[in-house]
Amino acid sequence: MYCAYCGRLSRRCQCHRPNSDLARFMARGGRTPEPLARSSAYKRAVPPQLKRRERQLLRANYADWFERLAAEYGDCCANCGAAENTVLDHIVPIAKGGRSHYDNLQLLCAECNRIKGKLAIDCRCFAHPE
Ligand SMILES: [Zn+2]
Ligand SMILES: [Zn+2]
Repeated sequence: MYCAYCGRLSRRCQCHRPNSDLARFMARGGRTPEPLARSSAYKRAVPPQLKRRERQLLRANYADWFERLAAEYGDCCANCGAAENTVLDHIVPIAKGGRSHYDNLQLLCAECNRIKGKLAIDCRCFAHPE
């Protein structure tokens, strides 16, 4: 089995350690994120031209998607609730085969985004628009 957050084989996964990225990420919000259903490992090597395309797609639609997410889930970090420095985050990172698509995006503050890194964590279930 593969870890739903880091995509590694369960026995190689470090997510359960007390100071893992996942633990630090969750400590900021204090909530247990929704694990993503995975039956296979996340992609290791995504071709550079695919990554470039996904990044361009994100840039081209950034303002639109940001506005839609803010309207649907609230204009704050989906993990910790911080209202400042929110950015669009890929739930499944581009580096793991995630696409730039509305369904794969959430709003995170810069700090949560930094800690999350290449983990796949869906926090949208926590967000509640005012
Ligand atoms: Zn893991
Ligand atoms: Zn945050």
